Amino acid sequence: MSETPSLLRRLIDAGLFIDTGAPGLYGRSGAFEEVIDRIDAAFVRAAGDDVTEVVRFPPGMNRRVFETSGYLKSFPQLAGTVHAFCGAHSDHMDLLEHLAAGEDWMGKQEPTEVVLTPAACYPLYPVVAARGPLAETGGLFDLQSYCFRHEPSDDPARMQMFRMHEMVRLGDQDQVLAFRAQWLERGQALVTSLELPFSLDLANDPFFGRGGKLMAAGQRAQQLKFELLVPIHSEEHPTACFSFNYHQDHFGLTWDIKTAAGEVAHTACVGIGLERVAIALFNQHGLSSSAWPVGVRKALWG
Ligand code: ATP
Ligand code: ZN
Repeated sequence: MSETPSLLRRLIDAGLFIDTGAPGLYGRSGAFEEVIDRIDAAFVRAAGDDVTEVVRFPPGMNRRVFETSGYLKSFPQLAGTVHAFCGAHSDHMDLLEHLAAGEDWMGKQEPTEVVLTPAACYPLYPVVAARGPLAETGGLFDLQSYCFRHEPSDDPARMQMFRMHEMVRLGDQDQVLAFRAQWLERGQALVTSLELPFSLDLANDPFFGRGGKLMAAGQRAQQLKFELLVPIHSEEHPTACFSFNYHQDHFGLTWDIKTAAGEVAHTACVGIGLERVAIALFNQHGLSSSAWPVGVRKALWG
C-alpha cells in the first residue's frame, strides 16, 4: 500500500471537502468555493465579446423533457430520478416501522415529475424550440447547473453531484462548428493560464449496453467529442476537465428546432467541470490557494 494519502483524503484533511459518508457527494469549504467562483468567472471571461443569453435552471428537470431527450437510450446507468412518498396514513405507519427496523421503507415512493439534471444543457433545447425559428445569427446560451450522475467513486474528480458551466450554440452546421473550433482554442488558453499540464483528445462517451461500443466508435469516427484532459491521478489516465461536443442535428430533430432558413438546427456545447478544474489546481499547485504561483493567481483573481 502506498504511504501517500489519497487525493480525496488530502482534500478532506485540508478542510476543502467535507465527507458526507456517500461516495461522490461532498460538502465544500469557503476556500474551495472561492476557487470555484474564480474558475467560473474565468470561463465566462474566456467567452470574450460573445453575446450570450444567460439562463439558469434548477438541478432537477422536467421528466417528460428528460424522457424525450434520448438520455435513457445512451446512459440509463447514470440517470437519477426523484421519488416521493405518495401513501396514506397507514402507509406512513408502515414506512416508519420499516425504517425503525432497518428495512426497506421505499415501498410507497413513487416517481415524481422531476429527474436530476445530467448535463447543464439538457433543459434548454425545448425552451429554445418553443420560441420558434432561430435568428439569422443562431443562438448562444450560457448555462450553469449542478448535475447528477450515478457513478459513485473514490476519485474526488468523479462525483455524483457536481457543477457544469456550459456555453451552447445553436445554428447551421457552419456556425456551430466554428463555435466549437473557437472554444477548443479558448479552452486551451484558459488551462494554459492556470499552469496546468493538459492534452487534447478525441473522446467518446460511456454508452450503455451491447450497442454502446458501436455508438462510442461512431462518436469518435465522426469527431463529435473532444476533451481537454489534465493529469490528476495519473499521467496515463488524465481527467476530462472540458468537453467540446457537436450533437449534429440530434437535438434539432428531437425538439424541432429550426434555423432562420427553415433547416433543422445543429447544436454544440462546451462544458467545463468546475470541481474538476478546482481539484486539478489544488492537486497541481498545492492545497492552499494563497500559495499558488503568481501567474495562476493573476489568471483567477486578476
Ligand atoms: P468522463 O469521460 O470523465 O466520464 P464525461 O465525458 O462524462 O467525463 P461530459 O459528459 O462531457 O463528461 O461532461 C462535461 C464536463 O463535466 C466534463 O468535461 C467534466 O469536466 C465534468 N464532469 C463529468 N462527469 C463528472 C463527474 N462525475 N464529476 C465531476 N465532474 C464531471
Ligand atoms: Zn451540453
